Amino acid sequence: MNVLRPRAVLESLRPYPAERTPVDLDLADNVNLWGMPPAAVRALTDPDAPRPSAYPPADPMELRVALADYAGVRPEQVVTGCGSDDVIDGALRAFAAPGDRVACCSPTFSMLSHFARVNDLVPVQVPFLPDGGLNVGGLLAAGAEITYVCAPNNPTGAVVSAGALAELLSSARGLVLVDEAYGEFSGASAVPWLQGTRNLLVTRTLSKAFGMAGLRVGYGLAAPEVVRALELVRGPYRVNTLALRAAVAALREDLGWVRRHVLLAVESRERLVPALRRLGLAPLPSAANFVCIPVPDPARVGAALLERGIRVRVLPGVAGGAIRVGVGPWEAMERLLEALGEALR
Ligand code: PMP
Repeated sequence: MNVLRPRAVLESLRPYPAERTPVDLDLADNVNLWGMPPAAVRALTDPDAPRPSAYPPADPMELRVALADYAGVRPEQVVTGCGSDDVIDGALRAFAAPGDRVACCSPTFSMLSHFARVNDLVPVQVPFLPDGGLNVGGLLAAGAEITYVCAPNNPTGAVVSAGALAELLSSARGLVLVDEAYGEFSGASAVPWLQGTRNLLVTRTLSKAFGMAGLRVGYGLAAPEVVRALELVRGPYRVNTLALRAAVAALREDLGWVRRHVLLAVESRERLVPALRRLGLAPLPSAANFVCIPVPDPARVGAALLERGIRVRVLPGVAGGAIRVGVGPWEAMERLLEALGEALR
């Protein structure tokens, strides 16, 4: 009997670490711990909403226009997807062929290398500079068809300087993909570079600042020809009927809610960092809604926090061993600090 075997490359890949036993306080995924915009909740519970028995529009123009208005670009510069994961994966297939290289500075968002390998691409990881800056020389030397930059970077929280980005955009030979999943928390964006640049794709998501991770809405901003290539790869119907309604409602009616909660997250982060230092820790500077904290024996610290009902991301290979904690309402951070103090003792 023939044994069905998946492609050989899959044997070396591991599932995304998304352990989901219920906990009181889940700080592992950097989502919006305040919830989602009330307008989106109303859109989801409206009894007169169109039923999902019909397909959503193949081209979700209403959402593209709302995202274009929010980002300050034209609708033909917007492509949507089932989370920004979907847009990133599509970009790898649209702009690199099997055997081509995808360069990034490491450590970064783990799914980038995963998607690269699934698409038979070769991930090339170069270290960040000793001062934490983007290693533009190393990235350019990789001669990759796609260069990935995460700004701010997950899992460290580091920003990317405008100078480094400008150098990369002018010299990279292929597509430069700037992942702004956490862009709202940093206040900086590569979007202004879209004017006059043809090789830039900025990916973003409604999973973080917009509090809609479970609805899976992501998008990309690029030149119209980049958008068209991505649409071909992605296919129709990636944003479902309910997600579409909730996303448009949030973008049209509740940007104030989103902006207020971004400010609250930044305030919480700025309070958390000195409190962590008082525990004798040295958190990495973060421009995102999470903080990466080097700790001795991160697996043990993670387990001790879990025993106290708090889940964080354990990162044994980052900064000599670290945990990453999502930032949320201050009461939650106080609880984290207390548990962390006990876990470190
Ligand atoms: N990019 C980065 C840097 C992320 O951290 C994540 C989610 N953790 C994503 C992209 C994907 O998010 P989503 O698919 O929910 O848009």
